[in-house]
Amino acid sequence: MELTGSRPEVVVVGLGTMGAAAAYHLASRGVRVLGLDRFTPPHARGEHAGGSRIIRQAYAEGRAYVPLVQRAYELWRQLGDLAGVELMTQTGGLMLGAPDSVHVAGALASAQAHGLEHELLEAKTIRARFPAFTPEDGEIGLYERAAGIIRPEAAISAHLRLAERSGAELRYGAAVTAWEATHDGVTVRVDGDTVTADKLVVCPGPWAADLLRMTGVPVTLESRLQHYWLPSDPFAIGRCPAWIWEPDGDQVGYGVPAFAPPNDLQGAGPGVGAVVKAAFHTGERPADAELGAPSATPDDLNTMTAWLRSRLPALADSSYIESKPCLYTMTPDGDFILGLHPEVPTVAVAAGFSGHGFKFAPVIGEILADLAQTGHTLHNIEQFAPGRFTAKATGP
Ligand SMILES: Cc1cc2nc3c(=O)[nH]c(=O)nc-3n(C[C@H](O)[C@H](O)[C@H](O)COP(=O)(O)OP(=O)(O)OC[C@H]3O[C@@H](n4cnc5c(N)ncnc54)[C@H](O)[C@@H]3O)c2cc1C
Repeated sequence: MELTGSRPEVVVVGLGTMGAAAAYHLASRGVRVLGLDRFTPPHARGEHAGGSRIIRQAYAEGRAYVPLVQRAYELWRQLGDLAGVELMTQTGGLMLGAPDSVHVAGALASAQAHGLEHELLEAKTIRARFPAFTPEDGEIGLYERAAGIIRPEAAISAHLRLAERSGAELRYGAAVTAWEATHDGVTVRVDGDTVTADKLVVCPGPWAADLLRMTGVPVTLESRLQHYWLPSDPFAIGRCPAWIWEPDGDQVGYGVPAFAPPNDLQGAGPGVGAVVKAAFHTGERPADAELGAPSATPDDLNTMTAWLRSRLPALADSSYIESKPCLYTMTPDGDFILGLHPEVPTVAVAAGFSGHGFKFAPVIGEILADLAQTGHTLHNIEQFAPGRFTAKATGP
């Protein structure tokens, strides 16, 4: 492959959510970076499309995530300032369900462990304060003022633009077919050509099963639908927070209030005006990366509308616009795969974000830059060790 500069120190494969962040952090530290993507991010073939991603700190998925997301908040602000774009909007966030539901109890445990500002609200208080929601008596909500929404397409574009401005060489339409460790680094095969670098960072999103080259890593690909409606009064930011609702015995749903991507973005969500989004986090919808995520059927929309009818009735009655599919790369434990490759320490991997990775993107980029530069990071990423699925049990 013809490069304009000298041999790169680091090749980043995949310039979506995590790879764009890694390329930016490496380049801004003065590292010679070559970034490769099979498409031109942001795009709708990966895991990042749809116009909005929720960010929150009271983290039901595990307390270990909290310091990472706190660092991500700082980095999102810095990135937005540098790029001159509003990437993060604070809307507040509401976790709804029974007091012992995973999302409410987990968020509370996380908030208490880290001293995060939060309020616990009874159903009648929620109904009065946030009229979009009609929880049943007995359900509660954990409200977190700091929660909000990130603009995913604008965020990826900002990372890529600033990476290039710091000297990164970025190539699009460049599909990597293989990589291998050599005596003096790592060789990457791209479109019948090869590139050699000292280190490799692999962020392949839905193509993780092909590119990680780690035996025994059981990632699976699933698709999810994002449904959009025209906004109405109860869904204005200020009256309606971002939300996740875990009803007893039903699917976990989530959504964001009336929110618009920046006007200059092509393909960011369903259109340039403000829209309200709702989706299911759970549910089995196997997918194939090459075929892409399947589109919505009338049944899919009926299921979503029926779910909303008793919980957000004003949304069920709003003007529906459209539904868009997107992909989740799942790990068996729902935790990320992040760290050095278990057999090749010159390769850092980031994958399997299990439907909740976007909010962490800038801190993941920082971690990947640390790993590629020095082989370690001061962030605690033990829980995400890429080798954990094949590690042998020890002791009795
Ligand atoms: C519907 C939906 C809603 C979500 N909501 C939230 C949310 O509210 N909050 C949150 O934090 N997270 C959320 N997520 C999850 C989050 O968006 C993902 O975890 C994150 O985008 C994953 O980033 P990634 O870099 O792994 O993948 P991607 O962003 O898809 O990037 C992977 C890149 O690798 C490239 N690539 C792959 N293979 C190759 C190859 N061989 N050669 C070259 N390039 C290659 C692809 O083209 C792609 O650009 C949601 C995800 C979905 C689908």
